[in-house]
Amino acid sequence: EKESRSSEEFAGGEEGGRIGMELLCVVKAVLKKIKRRVLVGDKVLVGSIDWVDRRGMIEDVFQRKTETADPPVANVDHLLVLFSMDQPKPEAFALTRFLVEAESTGIPFTLAFNKSELASEETLFTWKSRLRSWGYDPIFCSVESKYGIDTLQFNLREQTSVIVGPSGVGKSSLINALRNNKHFIGVSEHDNWFDPILGSSWFEEQRVAEVSTRSGRGKHTTRHVSLLPLFGGGYLADTPGYSQPSLMKVTKQSLSQHFPEIRKMLKDKEPSKCSFSDCLHLGEPGCIVNAQWERYPYYLQLLDEIKVREEFQ
Ligand code: GDP
Ligand code: ZN
Repeated sequence: EKESRSSEEFAGGEEGGRIGMELLCVVKAVLKKIKRRVLVGDKVLVGSIDWVDRRGMIEDVFQRKTETADPPVANVDHLLVLFSMDQPKPEAFALTRFLVEAESTGIPFTLAFNKSELASEETLFTWKSRLRSWGYDPIFCSVESKYGIDTLQFNLREQTSVIVGPSGVGKSSLINALRNNKHFIGVSEHDNWFDPILGSSWFEEQRVAEVSTRSGRGKHTTRHVSLLPLFGGGYLADTPGYSQPSLMKVTKQSLSQHFPEIRKMLKDKEPSKCSFSDCLHLGEPGCIVNAQWERYPYYLQLLDEIKVREEFQ
């Protein structure tokens, strides 16, 4: 409750007239002292506001709902997993890795395929039914032909989203297409998004290269992330997220929860359960998960990979 009150005050919700006002803020020394970093997307309490010079001081950072590391953004509540129908063609195992990684963040996500204008109706249909059997309902789109962009726009509304996916599928192109779509980004609604004096967009993170004092070498960690305000509310990170799923949050035991096929099998057979509570569904006696589904070999492959990683940790 504290959170919504303060963000409203910050945006000037009840006072009116200050929505879209940009303030250049310093971070209160005490926050720095206790190493509370302020991330793009954070909800913050701003004090000492000078409305004329548009300056303020960040006095507190509210608890984050989520925190993503790549790109560093707080309170992301939606991921857009983007692949392409061609150049590069979708590859089922790579796609599975991305889906498992997305599932493991706990953040709701949408799966979309770009460059759909390069594929035949038949190919699109085949992929759609294939993905349905995996438990997903993909959106097809094309930055090139603008197909499906409205549907994506609708999916991104009222949320803070990050686009993730392998390189070359069109993540940057999609971000640009959405950025340049005046009906999408609230440019005409608020002309204050870009400040002529400060020249930056909302929530821009200007993290300069940190120098690691121990090694003395420059540790170049500069990463600019801005959240583009979306028409109808919500934000989209202007930097694509991970293009290599690390699966670091996935354990041997949790992997099965990231496959909708296994979740469904377990649910359908409720109240029956696998005999062992730590069953890995490898054909143990009394296991109720069968092997008759397309991605079962991928499940086994990822399980092996995670086992190796866990052994070396
Ligand atoms: P990223 O690595 O995922 O950020 O991909 P980019 O946005 O850099 O795009 C990679 C290439 O795909 C570029 O040459 C784009 O022009 C091209 N591209 C992006 N969207 C489409 C599309 O819808 N159709 C086609 N044919 N090419 C596209
Ligand atoms: Zn089992």
